Amino acid sequence: MPVLNCRKCNKIFSTLAGFNTVCPECRKKDEEDFKRVKSFVWDHPGVTVDEAAEICNVSPKDIKEWLREERLSLADGSVADFLTCDRCGKPILKGRFCEKCKADMVTDLKHATEKPKMSGALVTPREPGEDEKMRFLGREKR
Ligand SMILES: [Zn+2]
Ligand SMILES: [Zn+2]
Repeated sequence: MPVLNCRKCNKIFSTLAGFNTVCPECRKKDEEDFKRVKSFVWDHPGVTVDEAAEICNVSPKDIKEWLREERLSLADGSVADFLTCDRCGKPILKGRFCEKCKADMVTDLKHATEKPKMSGALVTPREPGEDEKMRFLGREKR
């Protein structure tokens, strides 16, 4: 089993999962902190991250991480400037990108994967029938 240093308490522990970089104890504590913060922000809509961190006795860094992972979400306006879009720097509530950049990236991705369209003149006005498709695949000439 690979051995890792816990990224929170620096203790050495072994894990099979490469992405699991927190030891079981910190993980458990993290879960508890998360639950506490989650129920707190639900009961107190509009609370800021700093307030939640202080009252729940967790580090704002942890809350930020949960927001990045989209495990936690806060009410609109409660995290102004706390998280910013990785692409345009706009304040966001959760995740890594703002809605606009997410949409832009989906479009970009589509463009990148889409095959260039033939010009209108070359596009046949109707879908070829099953017959014609077969013939086309067989490279048979009419
Ligand atoms: Zn640890
Ligand atoms: Zn953005």
